[in-house]
Amino acid sequence: MNYTSLPPSELETLYKKTTKQYEKYKSLGLSLDLSRGKPGKKQLDMLEGMLDVIATGEDCVSEAGFDCRNYGILDGIPEAKRLFAELFDVPDDNIVVCGNSSLNLMYDAVARAMLYGVYGSEKPWCKLDKVKFICPAPGYDRHFAICESLGIEMITVNMTPTGPDMDAVEKYVASDSAIKGIWCCPKYSNPEGITYSDETVRRLATMKCAANDFRIFWDNAYIVHDLYPDKRDNLLNIYAEAEKHGNEDRIFFFASTSKISFPGSGVAIFGSSPNNLKFIKPIMGVQTIGFDKINQIRHVKYFKSVENIRAHMMKLADLIRPKFDAVLEILSEELGDAGIAEWTNPLGGYFVSFNTMDGCAKRTYELAKAAGVTLTTVGATFPYGNDPRDRNIRIAPTFPSDEELVAAMEVFVCCVKLAALEKLLNK
Ligand code: PLP
Repeated sequence: MNYTSLPPSELETLYKKTTKQYEKYKSLGLSLDLSRGKPGKKQLDMLEGMLDVIATGEDCVSEAGFDCRNYGILDGIPEAKRLFAELFDVPDDNIVVCGNSSLNLMYDAVARAMLYGVYGSEKPWCKLDKVKFICPAPGYDRHFAICESLGIEMITVNMTPTGPDMDAVEKYVASDSAIKGIWCCPKYSNPEGITYSDETVRRLATMKCAANDFRIFWDNAYIVHDLYPDKRDNLLNIYAEAEKHGNEDRIFFFASTSKISFPGSGVAIFGSSPNNLKFIKPIMGVQTIGFDKINQIRHVKYFKSVENIRAHMMKLADLIRPKFDAVLEILSEELGDAGIAEWTNPLGGYFVSFNTMDGCAKRTYELAKAAGVTLTTVGATFPYGNDPRDRNIRIAPTFPSDEELVAAMEVFVCCVKLAALEKLLNK
């Protein structure tokens, strides 16, 4: 039943029925959460043995005889570099294996550019009148938060099914030398689960930039996070594409094991060109004597190989997939032909991106909140928290139990319907 083609009398009947249903949910005193993009307990329990793979001092000795309990090796132990370079598709020589968070590395990369510039900068970015970043949206709120916190102006560019709107990106970066960066979550993007097409990757790698120190912040947080064993997206290696055109200095590459092992206690990596690393490592060396190598060796000893990590990811996918299926099934059954919403069907990552009718996301959020269901703050997926069409809501299926997820989704679709009916009836 397409709501948008119903006569007012039928809409009114539907409104009464939906309100009644909503009031029933409200009276249940629920407390459910669809906002948290973090693994559920069962996922964490799949890492059994990881906490005691390092039990003695002997376990801390690296293959080259280095004692990981001690200071040293700023850029990570060689076996961790090899493992993660292969896993995250970064050249061995161009990787730094760091601490527990890639977001931390991204913040540091931008803050460092503000304080020191990047390789090839004429001056630190903070000495410029203005620094601007391209922010494809919907996107990851914490990327936007970094810009906001450091006073970087954000230019919103729409996401398309193949990645950022590249016509707009090319036009902006070619014409404005104050634009120094772009945020990209290129595989199973947060929140849409979109993977950039080969053409998008090539255009990013080769586009003309007015700023000769322009950087692509390539946040590959979900690079190995497929949901299905037989259907997966492939992402072109941007570094290789950029290198063909002498643009390799443009790429800043980030990833972590947060959603492979333990979020907040995993291992994060930074990858970039030799020129960039030569510029950055001495500054990193002022910040720290070295990262947590015990955790690095723990990951190497536990996983041993990229094949084992891929097999582990499929076990995690077996836990996550039914949750995505449940979300998508409820959406399709309840809203499939209502004409009041659309959503993504990702093959990987952590989120489903949902669009209400224009102007209905905030109201849906309020209704859900009053009925005890927490959604991701509306607007968070856009720079400055401003979703111009007030329609995008990020659904995170992984954290709640299967039962909680179904209960929360039932309330959610009821709220989406009610908000749409209020709009259609001018209530
Ligand atoms: N990048 C993206 C796109 C994310 O969605 C997240 C977490 O949700 C992160 C980075 C955070 O990664 P880390 O735990 O390595 O800081």
